[in-house]
Amino acid sequence: MSFFGRNRAPRGTRRSPTPGSGPGPGYGRGAPSSQPPSPGASSAVFGNTEGKPLYLCSPFVSSALVKGNFKTIVVLPKYVDIMEWVAVNIYDFFTNLNEFYGVLAECCTQHSCPTMSAGPNLNYLWQQTSGKFVPMTAPQYIDTVMSSIQIMLDDETIFPTNNNHEFQRTFPGVSRHIYRQLLRIFAHIYHAHFTHILHLRAEPHFNSLFAHFLAFGKEFDLLEVREIMGEPGQPVGAGLLWEKWRDLGTLEK
Ligand SMILES: [Zn+2]
Repeated sequence: MSFFGRNRAPRGTRRSPTPGSGPGPGYGRGAPSSQPPSPGASSAVFGNTEGKPLYLCSPFVSSALVKGNFKTIVVLPKYVDIMEWVAVNIYDFFTNLNEFYGVLAECCTQHSCPTMSAGPNLNYLWQQTSGKFVPMTAPQYIDTVMSSIQIMLDDETIFPTNNNHEFQRTFPGVSRHIYRQLLRIFAHIYHAHFTHILHLRAEPHFNSLFAHFLAFGKEFDLLEVREIMGEPGQPVGAGLLWEKWRDLGTLEK
């Protein structure tokens, strides 16, 4: 779906479409979930002898708050401007992911995560404004990303909440940039901290948030499959969830 050529509906203060105010699932903690692994297995990254990550193993892979396909909650509602819809959803994904990471932050340190890992052979590098790529620890990388996104979200010229301000023509590009960076944080959490998610019994919430994020990204052309799956020889671990959930019918084929 294209970002361009739509008229905008009047709008007021930006509101999250998910927590209790719309058709979305909401991702707060506290609901019951699948059993976490036994204490003896708790530090294992891999769930079986085949080396398959736990998040791809049953029952965790299909653990979700929302049953069925996410398509229905991502499509553009009638009379809502597409830019506004993308903006409120990005705001919501950022807020929810930030809350999850806030809980995990004490487990994600420069010692536990010296690189921004997202798969056995994949470490993301940070691109400086000069264009140079530099390694960062995962907490440094994530803090840098989240701070920069927060600044953009607070910038009325990029994410206008006032009817006197229009979205700029650069908004689709900005949205794709933010989406790509949020994907990397999801990918790091799945790769490095899924056992922590299990200990919190938060995997149904986190899976639902990620599936919603992927479905929305595909619907509005915010993510390329290459970014979800990774490059040859450097697969994104969580990219396999994309394939698995498409097989299970959680996401569209
Ligand atoms: Zn980490």
